[in-house]
Amino acid sequence: MSKSVYINGSLVPAAEATVSVFDHGLLYGDGVFEGIRVYDGNVFLLQDHVNRLYESAQAIRLSIPITNDQMVAAVNDTVTANQISDGYVRLVVTRGAGTLGLDIRKTSDPVVIIIADTITLYPPEIYENGMPLVTASTIRNHPGALNPRIKSLNYLNNILAKIEGTDAGCVEALMLNHKGEVAECTGDNVFIIKNGLIRTPPTDAGILEGITRNTVIGLAREAGHDVRETALVRHDIYTSDECFLTGTAAEVIAVVSLDGRQIGSGVPGPITQDLRDRFQLLTRGD
Ligand code: PMP
Repeated sequence: MSKSVYINGSLVPAAEATVSVFDHGLLYGDGVFEGIRVYDGNVFLLQDHVNRLYESAQAIRLSIPITNDQMVAAVNDTVTANQISDGYVRLVVTRGAGTLGLDIRKTSDPVVIIIADTITLYPPEIYENGMPLVTASTIRNHPGALNPRIKSLNYLNNILAKIEGTDAGCVEALMLNHKGEVAECTGDNVFIIKNGLIRTPPTDAGILEGITRNTVIGLAREAGHDVRETALVRHDIYTSDECFLTGTAAEVIAVVSLDGRQIGSGVPGPITQDLRDRFQLLTRGD
């Protein structure tokens, strides 16, 4: 079956889904996006992702040309048309084509793109054994420059940190904020557990407010854990009992070392494993 992509109201063959070279999404990274999972034909937490997309757009003064409800329907239609049972949806809204120059008033017609595809996950052995992590020297964007809460098309900050991670043989990299505190990873949020207390940086640490993060906070509280959003420094991770990451693609994944320091016993910990099981039950019912 050939793939079809939603672009500006129609589902077209993938090869025909094109944008202008004058689109400010391409020229300046001016636009917003979301990544969403499909489990067993259901688009997981679709409304939360669509809400975050509209909030990101609001923050960059981008007016999305369709309503929130129409966006939800368009995502579901695109998933159905592509017969995706387990996969991934990429939702993109660009500023649209304009003149060469930053002025948003000289652009018109934002482009809405929905791609429903399969998903590439971290290798299974990383889920089993946990991942080693290194800290990138590239810090997370200062919230006063480009707020990480905005999921914008400008991901160079994260890409530069990811290069440092892959150079060090890691699939992710830890990013600190401008104060030297732990922010998040390049595409995942970070949690630690020490003496049973679960902690994760607050949104004002300069992070994307991950939808998986919020879901896992809820699951952990339901399971009776104390979860706190507090500022963390690397020392807190080095000396934690367990550490894990959350993200739409990663789900819940253990971190077993940071910068060569073993975390806990060096294998995925019991609370991490339990939260991973609870998350899987929520998404897949198994
Ligand atoms: N932080 C960043 C920088 C991200 O890009 C993402 C999404 N890949 C996350 C955290 C995790 O967010 P979510 O759980 O909503 O996928």
